[in-house]
Amino acid sequence: MSTSRSSVMSLSGTLQQRPRWQRGVVVVDSELGDAIGPIYARRYFSPQAKEEAEALVAHIIAVYRERLGALSWMAPATKAEAVAKLNALYVGVGYGENWRDYSGYQVKPDDIFRQPLAGPVVLLPDNVARIGRPVNRKEWSMTPQTVNAVNLPLQNALNFPAAILQPPFYDPAAPAAANYGAIGAIIGHEISHTSIRRAAPSTPRGACAIGGHRRISRTSEPRQQKLAAQYDTYKPFPDLSVNGKQTLAEDIADVAGVSAAYDGYHAALKGNSAPVEHGFTGDQQFFIAFGQNWALKSRPAALREQVMTDSHAPGSTVRTPYAMSTHGMRPLPFRPDRPSILPRRIGFASGRSTPLKT
Ligand SMILES: [Zn+2]
Repeated sequence: MSTSRSSVMSLSGTLQQRPRWQRGVVVVDSELGDAIGPIYARRYFSPQAKEEAEALVAHIIAVYRERLGALSWMAPATKAEAVAKLNALYVGVGYGENWRDYSGYQVKPDDIFRQPLAGPVVLLPDNVARIGRPVNRKEWSMTPQTVNAVNLPLQNALNFPAAILQPPFYDPAAPAAANYGAIGAIIGHEISHTSIRRAAPSTPRGACAIGGHRRISRTSEPRQQKLAAQYDTYKPFPDLSVNGKQTLAEDIADVAGVSAAYDGYHAALKGNSAPVEHGFTGDQQFFIAFGQNWALKSRPAALREQVMTDSHAPGSTVRTPYAMSTHGMRPLPFRPDRPSILPRRIGFASGRSTPLKT
């Protein structure tokens, strides 16, 4: 074992490397991501699922627009800017419109040392040809098989890959409450980045606009300080608390996201009462699904590393309890031995091994 691998393993608390086949999959994915993308999308993300997910996104954007209008602390001019930006937002759902071309890619089984360079080399001419061309706002930064979502401020765009539009995040067969609580909150989180704090200093076309950002920061400052102070009190370990300033941008997005998703869910009920599923009310299903988003087991060393260095507060121990407390709910204790609370969904048994950091 090399020294660097040994120190990485002790920092993260990992006892052994992943199995060889898993590391192999990671290499192929990072080398040929867009070649795998269409195969994954065809197999796991039907046109109907794409259509339904797009409708969910459109609904949450509409709710978000209303919520922006109702903000008491935001100046009218800033609100108008934020709405214009929301209207121009490109939201990619599932996969992009173009795939990168790997036709010159060569595999040499006897040259593993140079093989990792083959992918970047084959993509280089295309990367160089973009210099001086207008930005393509519909270009994706994630492959369909990536379990994550991203806000791209300089493109004023969001990407929701097909792999995050799967259980436990999204399931066309799951109750609406569960889908709004899970993927809905993530969609709301990413949308919030376009208008508040992290990605705020950019225009609808993606250019920098520091003035608007300063205005938002100034008027929302007292609220931000309160939120940061509250996060400072969360202690994943007795001797280590979350750094509320470090995680503030993501915490704001979490609170805004879950609130928009919750409003969206209630609007979707159109005045009808929510169907009870497995003995849980609609609101309970919403928050159980939200909690399942962030359920993850970490080794103590990895959790400590995250608390000290990451811009995201840890999911199971902080993100879920806080967002639930804002809606008057009390989280159930984490039960890794319990496969799933909502049986139709994969929940804790999903086998996700990488922390989701949206
Ligand atoms: Zn985020």
